[in-house]
Amino acid sequence: MSSGTALNPYVMAQQQFDRIADLLELGQAVRALLRQPMREHHISIPVRMDNGEVHVFRGFRVQHNDALGPCKGGIRFHPEETADSIRALSMWMTWKCAVVGIPLGGAKGGVICDPYRLSAREQEGICRGWVRQLAKDVGPQCDVPAPDIMTDSVHMLWMLDEFEAIHGGRYPGFITGKPVGMGGSLGRTEATGYGIIYVLREALKEKGLAIADTCAAVQGFGNVAQHAIELYEKMGGRVTTVSCWDQTACSAFAVRHKDRIDLEQLRTITDRFGGIDAQQAQELGYELIPGSEWLSDDVDILIPAAMENQITAATVDRISPRVRFVIEGANGPTTPDADKELGKRGIVTIPDFLANAGGVTCSYFEQVQSNINFFWPHEVVLGRLDTTMTNAFRSVSDLAQSRNLSLRDAAYVIAVDRVARACKDRGWV
Ligand code: NAD
Repeated sequence: MSSGTALNPYVMAQQQFDRIADLLELGQAVRALLRQPMREHHISIPVRMDNGEVHVFRGFRVQHNDALGPCKGGIRFHPEETADSIRALSMWMTWKCAVVGIPLGGAKGGVICDPYRLSAREQEGICRGWVRQLAKDVGPQCDVPAPDIMTDSVHMLWMLDEFEAIHGGRYPGFITGKPVGMGGSLGRTEATGYGIIYVLREALKEKGLAIADTCAAVQGFGNVAQHAIELYEKMGGRVTTVSCWDQTACSAFAVRHKDRIDLEQLRTITDRFGGIDAQQAQELGYELIPGSEWLSDDVDILIPAAMENQITAATVDRISPRVRFVIEGANGPTTPDADKELGKRGIVTIPDFLANAGGVTCSYFEQVQSNINFFWPHEVVLGRLDTTMTNAFRSVSDLAQSRNLSLRDAAYVIAVDRVARACKDRGWV
């Protein structure tokens, strides 16, 4: 999902890694091992469509590194998916698991397809086909998938069912993001969004601020964005703008309210992929604005929670002087040049692989519960999530202050150092 070499997410992920490898003075072998994935699977998935014809979809599973434990990472369904997006995302998963201190490695998967244009039966065919192609290369002991963009608990259950049919047993720890009651964990749906807000709360606390004193603009209105807004509002924050992708016009738009958006009301006019009905929003009194306008809102906090490459050299100047925090809900929403510019302006950027690690943390909790077949109450899951995210933020922030690093660099130093040590301790390098 990149539009040129400069914004290629894999190039960006490697550049970020190279900088940290220099800072940590990593040796040549460990650098070579960590700057690219250990394994890549590129697959073809034939699916008989509703019109009787067979369509062959391209899919991927990229396993970046499993020195700390079994690989973990979502599966995205998107028409513009690319191998390089998946490579970058698999690498970010490795750092994400490491920075929050969970014993998992990094992977990512995807299928080039447009769920908006596929029936439920056709999507089931893709899910089952993906597992049939990869059944020997994924599993509870080696690589545990999860939902991501345009995939949800229904897709995960089809995948689990196919995996169990192939392997002849019950393996609830094979996949996470399952429906509650079918091996899913309470709290998983809201975990990524809530995790963002736990971390934001800690970052604001350090500056003597409380969430109730702030307002925010959010890019995206899917799983991550909606739950981040839910907890942010519960803690007293105010959101003025959210944006989404209009699949008919093939462009993004945003809805802005002069006071605050009404989350529950907007949810009633939003489809399950996070697409808001623009006409109904207008009828409810929202102003419709172009997709990139969310960046210019006069707010304290920006929460990009949609796609990569959204805050770029071309868009960073449009950010209001009032903004003091950018918390990256999406993976890779800020390009390195824009990131530098944010730093110069004194804006605190909380990096993606720390900010949105709540999802994988709760996925890990789900995996643990599934493997022992004993499930924790909702408040226990959220309590453990809060503790994990808070501790991870504090370690990153302490290192940033003691070594005069940005939060992104400090998070990278902690994560890369943990993975590099695990590779060395295993005797790989
Ligand atoms: P989702 O499919 O539920 O929602 C995506 C939202 O972004 C939708 O509202 C969509 O309309 C909107 N969108 C897409 N393109 C856009 C654009 N160009 N401009 C504005 N809005 C746009 O996906 P999600 O699960 O909420 O994931 C969002 C981001 O968070 C992704 O980068 C994903 O990789 C990352 N992430 C997700 C999880 C998770 O647990 N779901 C965990 C970690 C990171």
